[in-house]
Amino acid sequence: AASAKIIDGKMVAKEIRDEITTEVSRMKDAIGVVPGEDSAETEVLKFISDFNDDPAVHGILVQLPLPKHMNEQNILNAVSIEKDVDGFHPLNIGRLAMRGREPSFVPCTPKGCIELLHRYGFQIKGKKAVVIGRSNIVGMPAALLLQREDATVTIVHSRTQNPEQIVKEADIVISAVGQPDMVRGTWLKPGAVVIDVGINPVEDATCPRGYRLVGDVCYEEARKVVSAITPVPGGVGPMTIAMLLSNTLSSAKRIHNFQ
Ligand code: NDP
Repeated sequence: AASAKIIDGKMVAKEIRDEITTEVSRMKDAIGVVPGEDSAETEVLKFISDFNDDPAVHGILVQLPLPKHMNEQNILNAVSIEKDVDGFHPLNIGRLAMRGREPSFVPCTPKGCIELLHRYGFQIKGKKAVVIGRSNIVGMPAALLLQREDATVTIVHSRTQNPEQIVKEADIVISAVGQPDMVRGTWLKPGAVVIDVGINPVEDATCPRGYRLVGDVCYEEARKVVSAITPVPGGVGPMTIAMLLSNTLSSAKRIHNFQ
């Protein structure tokens, strides 16, 4: 059987990081500004408000989940949408969902998935796409992004009946479930493109740490069926960090009016 093309997120992420390094030095040399990424853990709202007002801060990340005594909504709402490099502010998500609106930032992991499709030249427009998972940080924004790119999008979640039949229709599959090897080779349409976001530890006594990481998609089965697939690790994971750097650079450019 033909072997699937490997979508190498590690390589593309390296390319993007190199491009960002070049842009950052260009910006530093030209106007003496380096994009900043600081965040804080205590007195969160006060820090956020100070960071919002500080032109030297270009991106604010709230590391989720928050401790139980903190209100996630209040804290996410406090981040200036112009510095919301995670793209989690409800206004940015709302704009992402609406036609004719542009979010200031798009969440990094789903943006990384779309970036991999773009950089590998896979057409999205007009394709049938299935997103497995509907979390606020991955599945839902991934589905919104695919729709913005003119795919026809179906979302599969834990209450979906016959997920394998729905996934089998997809030209593009983005899986963000958190279940090791859930998507079997038989679920996939021959020639499909698979972006596997899942990062799942499974016990493996032969590994030094006692476990290894696998995706949501059974890689060995899938690669014999599909035309392209991201490995885990080394697929989507490195893209998340690269997209965060990219969002922070955009923010710094916008704040300092640097083209
Ligand atoms: P969540 O647990 O927040 O969401 C999981 C989603 O999968 C939910 O929408 C849930 O449905 C759905 N789901 C659960 N079980 C099934 C099932 N049996 N069939 C169909 N759908 C199911 O996870 P995240 O979105 O935060 O993360 C998903 C995976 O991606 C994890 O493995 C995580 O480690 C990885 N991840 C990787 C990142 C990276 O590469 N940088 C970044 C973020 C996450 P329902 O809504 O009905 O409960």
